[in-house]
Amino acid sequence: MIKLEGLTKVYKMGNVSVTALKDINLNIEKEEFVAIMGPSGSGKSTLMNILGCLDKPTKGKYILDGVSIQGLNDDELAMIRNRKIGFVFQAFNLLSRTTALKNVELPMMYAGVSAKERRKRAIELLEKVGLGDRINHKPNEMSGGQRQRVAIARALVNNPAIILADEPTGNLDTKSGEEIMDIFENLNKEGVTIVIVTHEPDIAQKAKRVVTFRDGVIIEDRQIK
Ligand code: ADP
Ligand code: MG
Repeated sequence: MIKLEGLTKVYKMGNVSVTALKDINLNIEKEEFVAIMGPSGSGKSTLMNILGCLDKPTKGKYILDGVSIQGLNDDELAMIRNRKIGFVFQAFNLLSRTTALKNVELPMMYAGVSAKERRKRAIELLEKVGLGDRINHKPNEMSGGQRQRVAIARALVNNPAIILADEPTGNLDTKSGEEIMDIFENLNKEGVTIVIVTHEPDIAQKAKRVVTFRDGVIIEDRQIK
């Protein structure tokens, strides 16, 4: 599903350059559930941005579901991103003034799905993440864990083959974090490939494989289930 060969990312700011990822080789197969760990600044978010086609590598290959990402223009990257990938962020990134239902409907509005279909699908997804009784709540009327579940429902609208989540439990208490991981575990059982970044060893234990980064390189890659 994901194949990285000699992947390097250098950020250049004026005459300063930072090598965030150095010559990374990594394969993630369909239906894997991978936790990415490592200290702050080790390149985890840089990796996620590249995996999600939000950023391009400086050097090396990224093959996503058989498609080589190099050479694609921004529109083509956006198309792949919309078709294949669901994103979940630490800060939820929900619209605060609008209901859970509308937050989940919004990406479908952009995609031109009819009002009736949108509503049906959004309700179905909110029920799937256990929020069937909160569809008309706004983010500030929900707990952090519930907000993150809305964000997961929104990430699922296009039936992504891959979910990428950068510190999805970083703002949550332990119990809510575990509930989020249970949702990912169920999605993984349904066949979705999951890659999450986390600082917390207990959270990483819920994955099937743990890949640890330090200073832009992989220092450990362990199958745990
Ligand atoms: P992590 O998510 O593991 O904390 P990052 O991928 O965010 O690490 O950062 C890796 C390194 O790249 C850090 O040294 C960081 O300062 C640098 N970096 C990240 N994003 C940028 C950027 N947009 N511009 C310049 N340097 C960046
Ligand atoms: Mg980060």
